Amino acid sequence: MEEMPIGVMTWVLRDPIEALELAQAVGVKTMQLGCPPDDYDSASKEEFKKLLRKSGIKVTTVFCGYVGENYATMETTKETVGLRNPKFRGERMRKTFQISDFAKELGVNVIAAHIGFVPEDPREPIYRDMVETMQKIADHCKNNGQYFALETGQETAKTLLRFIKDVGRDNIGVNFDPANILFYGSGDPIEALEILKDHVIGVHCKDIKMPTKVGQKPKEVLFGDGDVGAERFLRKLKEIGYRGPLTIEREVQDIEEQRRDMIKIRKTLEELRRRVLSST
Ligand code: MG
Repeated sequence: MEEMPIGVMTWVLRDPIEALELAQAVGVKTMQLGCPPDDYDSASKEEFKKLLRKSGIKVTTVFCGYVGENYATMETTKETVGLRNPKFRGERMRKTFQISDFAKELGVNVIAAHIGFVPEDPREPIYRDMVETMQKIADHCKNNGQYFALETGQETAKTLLRFIKDVGRDNIGVNFDPANILFYGSGDPIEALEILKDHVIGVHCKDIKMPTKVGQKPKEVLFGDGDVGAERFLRKLKEIGYRGPLTIEREVQDIEEQRRDMIKIRKTLEELRRRVLSST
């Protein structure tokens, strides 16, 4: 495969055929596929597999999502996202095993998720519980010949690095999202990438404009138009030796708008990638 192939990230818990159509419309050869809905049946799955084979598009990661997650505020995110809340943990761990098995059927060797805010203080009981849950998930993935990628941002890079070491499995890495690092106030994306550089197995090309005045909210913008610094991000990826997929993430609900934006971002990325890879 070419160096830094461009891809798209698709919605979780939606029809994979819709995801495939998005990748085709954007004109990319890779995608991170959001996991299908819980009631996905085997006939639909077979149909998807057939279309996927025909498309020549490579699924680089299957991304986990769980019913009941709510990103509306920091509080709801903390309460409902990923594996942090003990109320959901067991059920979602089993769901993650299923997603891993689904990914294996597609021949995909990475699954990823937002596991929820990892506590900055490792003495918190919830920290230990998340480590143990992650070990079980990593072991299941290992049996399927897979890596598990932790989506970055909801904790500092230092905490995530400690977490990876405490989980102590060789098939755990990160899916680095520079916009999330800014959004959750977890530091500077380039410094965070330096800290996590030995563990990066995927990236999201997503950007964000941070507020400059009190009362403003951060706003997700096209990759290249925000505060991440798209070119310095790609240069840093090159410096750390990352040559994997550049996966475009654009979280707008309107499908047509998402498609148009992703096409623009693909063009930006093609130009930036050319410049960065050809420079010494
Ligand atoms: Mg992301």
